[in-house]
Amino acid sequence: MAKKIPSAILTFRFPGLVYFENNFEDPMIRNGAPDETEIQAALVCSKKHALQIRVKNGGGMTRDYEGLSYLCKTPFVISDLVDLRLISIDLEEETTWVLSKATVGDLYYTIAQNSRIHGFPAGICQCVGIDGHFSGGGVGTMTRQYGLAAENITATNLIDADARILNREAVGEDLLLAIRGGGGASFGIIVAWKIKLVWVPPVVTVFTI
Ligand SMILES: Cc1cc2nc3c(=O)[nH]c(=O)nc-3n(C[C@H](O)[C@H](O)[C@H](O)COP(=O)(O)OP(=O)(O)OC[C@H]3O[C@@H](n4cnc5c(N)ncnc54)[C@H](O)[C@@H]3O)c2cc1C
Repeated sequence: MAKKIPSAILTFRFPGLVYFENNFEDPMIRNGAPDETEIQAALVCSKKHALQIRVKNGGGMTRDYEGLSYLCKTPFVISDLVDLRLISIDLEEETTWVLSKATVGDLYYTIAQNSRIHGFPAGICQCVGIDGHFSGGGVGTMTRQYGLAAENITATNLIDADARILNREAVGEDLLLAIRGGGGASFGIIVAWKIKLVWVPPVVTVFTI
């Protein structure tokens, strides 16, 4: 059976993408989401017109091989957090705010630019987006010592299904716990994460046997 080639809305971000099945819709609109208000507007309009929303993070290509973030069997809008990329480090507090579009590699690079003794325990592959990764757990080389990425998250800013922006206080303990492993898209659209930095030695030795 011939595979379906997705429309330009999807191939803009995922060149060469081909669906494994033919029964998926293409997104009607790609919501570039340069800030929170655009995401709120997309949520309100989608609800009004009974459209589904898919939330996409990731780098230039998708890291979600099941297509959960960009496929739907009914008409939908794709909210592509392509512009939310800022990473701001507070070395005194040993914390960092990371906006949703950042990849794990962006995060590691920015931490390394600012400190030789701090790191973050997340995955090995730098191209993975932080949202799917953090909200799914996040296993990496430092997991034995510091736990999963999700265990080192202290706050998140989230837009819920009613298009309300929730900060750490409004998110509360139960929802924060659920997001850290339960998959972000089950609960809303995450726009930023606050993470706890961990200590790493300034010099490491790498060897093979
Ligand atoms: C090459 C490769 C290497 C990998 N290496 C590791 C590894 O070392 N350790 C590890 O633990 N995992 C690893 N993974 C798995 C990876 O963590 C998951 O695939 C993760 O879901 C990717 O997240 P993403 O944001 O890039 O993907 P996306 O496709 O953007 O999203 C994945 C899911 O998260 C949802 N989502 C995205 N953004 C948001 C948002 N802002 N708010 C709410 N929900 C959102 C999407 O809707 C979708 O359901 C690897 C995957 C690949 C492809």
